[in-house]
Amino acid sequence: MSDPLLPAVPGFLPADDSGAQIKRALSWTHTARFLTTASKLSELPASELPEIAFVGRSNAGKSTAINVLAQQKRLAFASKTPGRTQHINLFELGPKDAPDAMFADLPGYGYAAVERNAKLRWQEVMATYLAVRRNLRAIVILVDSRLGFTEIDTKLLDFVAPRIGNGSVTLLALLTKIDKLNRSQSAAAVERATTVIERVTTDEADVSVSTFSSLSRAGVGDCALFLHQCVHHRGTPNGS
Ligand code: GDP
Repeated sequence: MSDPLLPAVPGFLPADDSGAQIKRALSWTHTARFLTTASKLSELPASELPEIAFVGRSNAGKSTAINVLAQQKRLAFASKTPGRTQHINLFELGPKDAPDAMFADLPGYGYAAVERNAKLRWQEVMATYLAVRRNLRAIVILVDSRLGFTEIDTKLLDFVAPRIGNGSVTLLALLTKIDKLNRSQSAAAVERATTVIERVTTDEADVSVSTFSSLSRAGVGDCALFLHQCVHHRGTPNGS
């Protein structure tokens, strides 16, 4: 029998083989390595590789989540060093000699202490990135499960609604720090988030809500699997 971890044709593993699929997806997310940082869109390398953007309010748990997915302690903390908080950081994934995807860590938003000019500049960088980045395949929006979607999160959703709605970009709403909630609170948080993302849901849209904890690792494997499938089991961006 062939090795279940090395299927000849990705995407054709039997449905009951989810453990092996998760393992394979995690070994893929573990390959994430820093590629470059950019303070404006024109500094980002043009790429044909499918890109997954991570967005969320400051303190939502985005850096920790990226580090846990990558199984590296400090990978995403480059974005927290002074002077880099407004930057887009790109990570490359897959074999070193044949990278197959990128993660884009976008600046956290909603941090009250950021001065007005920096906020406006951030909005411009972020908005332009989400609207025009050609190879954008998926957006992971991280939301603290205790807070749910805030006004600024829903504004961002509305902003990306056209690309989500026409199915060219997949959306994953990740409810973070789920270890802080009990089972019924967690179910209620998922229900509330599902209602919110209905605003971007169309027949073509590919949207999901999932729970996540960097602390207990709940949902980490499922998240890795989702991202892996986004990149490996679907068509190229914009359906071309
Ligand atoms: P970011 O600003 O979105 O990058 O947020 P961070 O990743 O820096 O996390 C913000 C705070 O939340 C830190 O104190 C983390 O230790 C904490 N945190 C992150 N993920 C989790 C989690 O899954 N569970 C709990 N309980 N705390 C978390």
